[in-house]
Amino acid sequence: MRDDRALTTGLIYHPDYAKHSLGPAHPERPERITGTIQYLSEVGLLEDPDVHLFKPEPATVEELRLVHTIQYIERIRRLSGRGGMLTLDTPVPPSTYDIARLSAGGAMLAGGVVAEGKVKNSFALIRPPGHHAGRDFGGGFCYFNNIALMVEHLRTRYRMKRFMIIDWDVHHGNGTQNIFYSDPTVLYFSTHQMPLYPGTGTIDEIGEGEGEGYNVNLPLPPGTSGEVYREIVKELIEPLADEFKPEIIAVSAGQDAYFADPIANLHFSVDEYFCITKLVMRIADRHCSGRLAMALEGGYNLEALPRIIAGILVAQSGLNLKIFEPRTTPEQKENQAIKERIMQVKAALSEYWKAFR
Ligand SMILES: [Zn+2]
Repeated sequence: MRDDRALTTGLIYHPDYAKHSLGPAHPERPERITGTIQYLSEVGLLEDPDVHLFKPEPATVEELRLVHTIQYIERIRRLSGRGGMLTLDTPVPPSTYDIARLSAGGAMLAGGVVAEGKVKNSFALIRPPGHHAGRDFGGGFCYFNNIALMVEHLRTRYRMKRFMIIDWDVHHGNGTQNIFYSDPTVLYFSTHQMPLYPGTGTIDEIGEGEGEGYNVNLPLPPGTSGEVYREIVKELIEPLADEFKPEIIAVSAGQDAYFADPIANLHFSVDEYFCITKLVMRIADRHCSGRLAMALEGGYNLEALPRIIAGILVAQSGLNLKIFEPRTTPEQKENQAIKERIMQVKAALSEYWKAFR
C-alpha cells in the first residue's frame, strides 16, 4: 500500500469567514468565499480524498503580537466593539476582531499542516485578507497580516529559518513589505499593477539594514497578461530561490490580477493561475520538498474567483480535472515592457545576488 498522505493538499476553511460583512456595495464580500466553497463542492474537489479540509482556530493576542504592536491590536478590538472605520475603504464592523483573528489562524494553520508533513501543500481559503496590514496599520480591506503571521508561526513553532513570500495579488503588499523590510530571513517578492492602490512597490524599494536586497518588487503596467509569469519565474524568482534556499514558499494568493476583476486592470486568465501555481510548485519541489502554503488575499470577480481557486487546487493536488474559463479572454499584448523591467530589477539587486551580476 502506498502511503501518499504527504502528497496531498490541505484546504483551510471556516464557515464563519462569511460572517464578516462590509456592506452590500463593498467588493470584499462574503460571497467570495461562499461561492468558492459551493463551486469546489460542485466540481467534486471538496469530496476528493486528495484534498484534506482543516478547520482553523482564531489567532491569540500573543500570536498576533509576533507581528503587530499591542496598541494596534487593541485599536482593532476597540473599533470592532462599537463598529467604526480603519480607513476610508476599510470599515470595522462588530465581528471584525474575531473573524480577522480567525483569518490569521487559517493562514497559520496552512503553514502548520505543511510544516508537520500532514500535507505537501495547502491553500487557506480565508477572509478578510491581510497583505496591506503592517505592524501598526491596516487598510485596503486588511486588519491583521495573515501571511506574516504564518511566517512568524512557522519560525516560532516549527523552528523554520528561511522563508520566501511570493505575492501575486494585483496590489502591492505594502503591509508585508513593512513588516519584513529589514529582515534577511524573509525574501519578499511582489508583482503588482502600477499605478494602483496602495501606490508603493517601486523597484528601488529593496529593503533596508540587514534586510537590504531581500525585498523585490516588480510593478506591472495595466494590461499585462499572466503569460509573463513564465519569464518572471525564469529570470527572477528561480534564481533568487536558488541562492536564497527557502525552507518553505508562502504565497499571498490574491486573484485580482484576473482580466475581468472589477477593481484592477491586469489580464491574467483562469488557466494562467493554474500554470503559475505549477511553476511555483516546481521551485518548492527543488528547494523545500514541495512545501508550499498559500493564503487568499484579493480577487473580486465573483464568477471567476471560484474557478481560479479550483484551478489552483487542481494544480496543487495533481488531480485530473479541467477548470474552464467562464469568459472570452482578451487578446495577448506584446510584453516587451516586462523584459525591460526585469532588467531594472536585476540591476537594482545585482549587489546582493550573484545571479544578477
Ligand atoms: Zn488585491
